[in-house]
Amino acid sequence: MNRLLKENGRVLAFGAHPDDLEVGAGGLLARLAAEGAEVTLAVVSIPTNAAIRTAEAKAGAEVLDADLFILFEEKQCRVEDIAMHELVRRFDQIVGDTRPDLVITHSANDLHWDHGLVNRATVSALRRTPCDLLAFLSSPEMNAQARGIGQCFADISTTIDTKIAAIAAHKSQGSKLDLESSRDLARAMGRISGYGYAECYEALRVRI
Ligand SMILES: [Zn+2]
Repeated sequence: MNRLLKENGRVLAFGAHPDDLEVGAGGLLARLAAEGAEVTLAVVSIPTNAAIRTAEAKAGAEVLDADLFILFEEKQCRVEDIAMHELVRRFDQIVGDTRPDLVITHSANDLHWDHGLVNRATVSALRRTPCDLLAFLSSPEMNAQARGIGQCFADISTTIDTKIAAIAAHKSQGSKLDLESSRDLARAMGRISGYGYAECYEALRVRI
């Protein structure tokens, strides 16, 4: 990934819902943006409270210094309400538009059904695109089941506060998003990887 940072690369991150990317990958996304990468967040759907959650998604992206696309902005729905071929078609478009060097997405092992669907659509959309692909594991749905296979750690010591601020932008989710838990998880991942704070990723495709 160091090569990517030096070359001022393009990063595309897929999240099923507003706040998923801030919680799962906010530290690394903020770090890549700070180091000169062009970071794009692609949020797939907004299931409820469209106006409020759209505003929060914009605020979160701004904190991370990332561009934001809401892929199915016109209809308020869950990811599972969208046909897989339609999901992949839309992912294809944004991959074509952003030409990413690195893509970050949900893990196939994530227990949330919508999150798993986004993983499947991401892998399908990248079938002809040469890029690195990481799946984030720092999600409440993943904590209990780290696999220990292909894991890598991103040092987010310089951006942990930015990550927490980006999560806090999702005010309507306040009761669900425990900011201290996110900080504790990053510290715990830092402890096992030798960083102050870290996020854990599955390396699904990495060019070295
Ligand atoms: Zn979600």
